[in-house]
Amino acid sequence: MREDLKALREQAEAGLRKAETEEELQEIRTRYLGRKGLLTALLRNIGNVPSEERPQFGRQCNEVKESLSAGIDQLLAGLASSKREALLQCERLDVTLPGRGVRHGRLHPVTQVREEICRIFAGLGFSVVEGPEVELDYYNFEALNIPKDHPARDMQDTFYVEDNIVLRTHTSPVQVRIMEKRRPPVRILSPGRVYRRDSDISHTPMFHQIEGLLVDRGITFGDLKGVLTVFLKQVFGEDTALRFRPSFFPFTEPSAEVDIRCVMCSGRGCRVCGQSGWLEILGSGMVDPEVFKNVGYDPEEFTGFAFGLGLERIAMLKFGISDIRLFFESDMRFLEQF
Ligand SMILES: [Zn+2]
Repeated sequence: MREDLKALREQAEAGLRKAETEEELQEIRTRYLGRKGLLTALLRNIGNVPSEERPQFGRQCNEVKESLSAGIDQLLAGLASSKREALLQCERLDVTLPGRGVRHGRLHPVTQVREEICRIFAGLGFSVVEGPEVELDYYNFEALNIPKDHPARDMQDTFYVEDNIVLRTHTSPVQVRIMEKRRPPVRILSPGRVYRRDSDISHTPMFHQIEGLLVDRGITFGDLKGVLTVFLKQVFGEDTALRFRPSFFPFTEPSAEVDIRCVMCSGRGCRVCGQSGWLEILGSGMVDPEVFKNVGYDPEEFTGFAFGLGLERIAMLKFGISDIRLFFESDMRFLEQF
């Protein structure tokens, strides 16, 4: 065998021994056997070989070419099968493993409380209505007897979207929107998200309120007391004691805060009730005649009452939760308890 052919064969075989990837093998094929490959060039120059050596040289070149090509094919096949093997290994399915159970979802504690309250008031003839969370200043404040620069605006630290547009600070604007459209009797319940600039262990910037409104001829404070008593006894139990404390809201007159006897200590006094034995539950009152005038109701003809409460607060008391922020952390360990 001629020296140049022999050197080329050794060089190619050394390359094959080192090659580890498909790309490297294809590169060797191109370098030696390709149209511009080294072995191809050697064969092309066969004219320079003395004529008596030519047949032997040609044969040897072809032998080297075939053995090199076969070597590459064999290595490629080996690579492909070990790749397949690795793939099979990592996709191996163990049919003897126990199956994974389907996780059942459940209702968020705040949703549970909202649904319970809606159910109770549905039984009293109230229907559920909803309104926008991005609200005009007029509906959130002015129509509810809270004009601009009124000190009562400080009671609710407000997120402003624009000068005249706010994230509603309470669900009360829904009352105004409904009264503008309907004549009494009105018996509505409006649950929803509200927003205030507040954040600590008992306040979050977004929370849920539910608000009720009843307007008709001859509605009195006695009706307010009756309805709220029935409601709170259904939520917290038949033995629940209530008390009504005089209060102030711009949109009701007279106004009352309603407390229940502390569900944690039964009135003896504890940390939750601040040793008072009572828990503030909701705000309420007879609708202020000014609000009726704003929606075109004659306050001489109609009277009514309204009340509002925070759903998180009810859920915290019902389920014994001490930090309001837990409701919004989406921690499954917390949510799975309810
Ligand atoms: Zn207590």
